[in-house]
Order: sequence, then C-alpha cells, then structure tokens
Amino acid sequence: MAKPPLSPEALAALYGPHPSHFPPGGWEDESRHPAERLVKTHCCFCGQQCGIQLKVRQNQVIGFEPWEEFPFNRGMLCPKGVKRYLQSGHPDRLLDPLVRTEQGFRKAAWDEALDFTARRLREMQERYGKDAVAVYGGASLTTEKAYLLGKFARIALGTRHIDYNGRLCMVSAGTAYKLAFGVDRSPNPWSDIPKAQVLLVAGANIGECAPITTDYIWRCRDNGGRLIVVDPRMTPITRNADLYLPVRPGTDVVLLMGLLHVVLRDGLEDRDFISQHTEGFELVAESVRPYDPLTTAEITGVPPDAIEKAARWFGEAERAIALHARGIEHQSKGVENCLAIINLCLATGNIGREGASCMMITGQGNGQGGREHGQKCDQLPGQRSINDPEARSHVARVWGIDPAEIPQGGCTAVEIMEAIHRGEIKALLSICFNPLVSLPDAEFTAAALERLEFFGVVDFFLSETAHFADVVLAGSLHEEDEGVVANVEGRVLHIPKAVDPPGNARVDWTIYCDLARRLGKGQFFSYKSSREIFDE
Ligand code: SF4
Repeated sequence: MAKPPLSPEALAALYGPHPSHFPPGGWEDESRHPAERLVKTHCCFCGQQCGIQLKVRQNQVIGFEPWEEFPFNRGMLCPKGVKRYLQSGHPDRLLDPLVRTEQGFRKAAWDEALDFTARRLREMQERYGKDAVAVYGGASLTTEKAYLLGKFARIALGTRHIDYNGRLCMVSAGTAYKLAFGVDRSPNPWSDIPKAQVLLVAGANIGECAPITTDYIWRCRDNGGRLIVVDPRMTPITRNADLYLPVRPGTDVVLLMGLLHVVLRDGLEDRDFISQHTEGFELVAESVRPYDPLTTAEITGVPPDAIEKAARWFGEAERAIALHARGIEHQSKGVENCLAIINLCLATGNIGREGASCMMITGQGNGQGGREHGQKCDQLPGQRSINDPEARSHVARVWGIDPAEIPQGGCTAVEIMEAIHRGEIKALLSICFNPLVSLPDAEFTAAALERLEFFGVVDFFLSETAHFADVVLAGSLHEEDEGVVANVEGRVLHIPKAVDPPGNARVDWTIYCDLARRLGKGQFFSYKSSREIFDE
C-alpha cells in the first residue's frame, strides 16, 4: 500500500518546501563571476509564457535579465517570473531517484529505481489486467513530453486510463470552443485586446493570476475602452472596472443568458453575421427568452440596471472582447458557461475581426499544447478524438501499430481516483501532477493513494503527493530540455535547453523511454533527442 513513510512534518523537514532566496553561489559570487551566456527562453509558471533571458554560468541558472524585444510581455514579468530562475538550483531539488523504506526515502541508482518501477507495473498488469494501471500527466510538460506520455500509456502500458491535471481547469473551455468552432483555441492574439471598445472579463482574477494581461487591459482603457467585470469577489481588476457585475457563485450562465436577452430584445444582434456564420440561432434566442433583467437579477444577484448597461455596452460596441478563465470554467457547468460567452460574441458578430472575440486565458505553462497532444483520456495527438476510426488509423500508422492496439477512451483525472477507491485501478504513475493539492477533496485523494498497490512519481521536488510514492524518479525542469509549448494565444514557442538537469536527475522523456524498454516496447521509443519526438 502506498503510504507516507514518515509524518508530513518530518518529510517536509527533510525535503521541503524550504524558502530559498539565493541563486547558486550567492549574490556576491554572481557579481564577481558574471554570467557566461544569456539564454532567451520563457517563464514556465503560467500559460502566458513571458519572454525572459536566463543567466547561465557553469551549467547553472544564476539569474535573469528581461527580454524586452519579446512582443508579448516586452520585458515585463510578474513576481513569479522574477523568481523563476531560483528553482533549478533550489536546495530542495531532487537529485536522485528515491525508493520508499520503512524509515523514509533512500536514494537509489537509476537502474534499481527503473527496474523496480517496471517490475511493479508489469506485476500489476499481469495480476489485474492492463487497465489496472493508470497514468497522470500535467499541462506544464512541453508538448513533446505530453505527446510521449500519451504514447507511453497507450503503447508501453496498453492502458486506456491516462488523463492530466488540465482536466481540473481548462478542459471545459476547450470543449466549448471545440463544440462551437470545431477547434480548441482562442481565436485572436492578445495584441487585439487594446483594440476593443468594450472588454467583458468573466471569472478571471487577472491582476493576480495573469498579471501581464493587466497591461493589455490598461492599454485598452488608455484607448478609451470600457471594462466590465463579472466576478463574485472584489479582485484587483474588479476594483478598476467601469462596470462591476457581482454575480452570485454558480449563476454565471444565467447572467450571460440575461445579457444576450437584452441584446436580442433591443435589436443589437448582428443579423448578417448570424445568418452567414452560425446555425441554431433560433434555439439560442428561445433559450434566453425567459431571462429578462428582473428574472436574471433575482437569480444572479446582479442589479437589473447593471445587466441592462452591460448588455448595451457590449451589444452597441463595434469591437468587443470577452475574456474568461477558471472562475466560470472551474464549475460543474463550465462548458455551458463558456458556450454562453461564445453565443454572446457570435450573436453580436464579435468574432473573426481585429479587436472582437471571445478568448480563454490559459492557466498552466503549456495548458494549450499539453491538452491537444494526447494525454487526455478522450484524445489522441492533434486534438483527434480517440473514438474516431480515421484518427485511430492515422495515429496507429505513425506509431507503427495496428489501430486495434490503441486502447479506447478511459477515466478522467477525478474518475481515476474513484476507480482506485472501487479497487479497479491498482497502480498509478504520475508526472507533473500534484493531485493531493489540485483535486477537490484531499481526504478522498489521500485515501485513494493509500489504496494503491504501486505508486510511482516523476517530479523535481518531493510534492505532497510524492510523499505517498513507492518510488520517485527525479525529473527535469522547463530549462533543462529542448521543446515547444503553446502559449495563451496558441502561439507555439521554442524552449531551448539552457542547462543540464542537476545531480543525477534526468530529462523526463528519457525516463519514459527507459521504462518502455524495460516493459518490452523499446522499439517504439528509440528517440535520441526531443527534436525527434517533435518531428514525429
Ligand atoms: S505572467 Fe505568467 S509567464 Fe509571465 S512572468 Fe508571470 S507567471 Fe511567468
């Protein structure tokens, strides 16, 4: 059974988190021994992927300089980005694989840790079947790592259960955009934000969670744009709104339908756009008919005159943008909330033009690329549905296997925990995911982890979840491997390798390849570089 070998306090004392305020070598050392080179790369901490230059000396990241020519953030960074360079040389960094013992974790050689992991995974599958093993991925992995993890689960393990931590946030927005437009992408670049006459921000604490986007909003307002914010809380961006709609939690969809009701009642819709580019408009119009301002106000708590004003501002603007994030997506009705925003934009013709759009603010570092390349339980790489026979044939051809060998769709991230509780999933391999912190019910998650007969983790720090692991494989950071990510705009960015992983830590994709070889599937994982994975 996977159980922490020591108390959480004892493990935290040994493995962190400990604060660290100094770069490797300290400040004085940096002033006496300046950087050997600057590496133009991106901040790994959120989907905006701001440009940054890392200072490197003797294969260590020792500081940073702004990258002022990078157009997205023009040298600006938020406090997280300013501290970003401190993580690769952090004293809590895992430098070796760890194996759990009665007394705690002990360091292990790679061969021992990988042999043990492969043996336990094989034993679980021989005893309980292929689907008794599940895989968790994460949206901070580069696209190459995310792609290869999906391939590893489906070919090396042959399990249908692989899902990732983006399931908890962006998936509802991605699903809504796919339903409405056929593709899961924000339609416009961020440079359009300052061109809008009206911005509607729904469920996005932009000032604290996507700080660089605040600059785009200020530029919009400098150009005379008006800002409407929908949020139950008075966040920093809310305090600066021209119009604040204090929606009751969980009633966003009603508010958005109420806005569309007023738009249609007052004839502010774009009939030409609707007839040329949409279908099913009459059904949408019918669905919003009951939500007049008084009814909407009663349900949502937003005053009727504010609903009227917001709808008129949005409907009368020549160019309006609706920006949204986890506040409306992180709900059991997240897809419906996003579709309601999309419908408002479609009905007013605010799409497909400069300064007119609906846009989702991606959360994690590679939230976009990570979710479209095959670590979702229902998708194969390239946003292909796992149920689509043509997509299965295409991917099988690339992988050199029979389409029938690709498992069918499996459990979502939360359903995997439920299946562990039911005793259907017995082993879990997790990378770049801290479910004990991220999943909604920590006690339920901890109890599930304790039920596992084998739990393996790939990580660069010993997270709360890794406390439960039988084996922890020391992995790599953003700057320790080459790869690509897709930022909040859907723009694909190159991440160069700046330094090697420290100590005996390894680049993540080489860990999957080594495990695949031990599972007898090495012929499908013979990559020499992440570039080869990219090419595939
Ligand atoms: S806004 Fe995001 S990408 Fe930019 S510096 Fe902050 S955390 Fe990093």
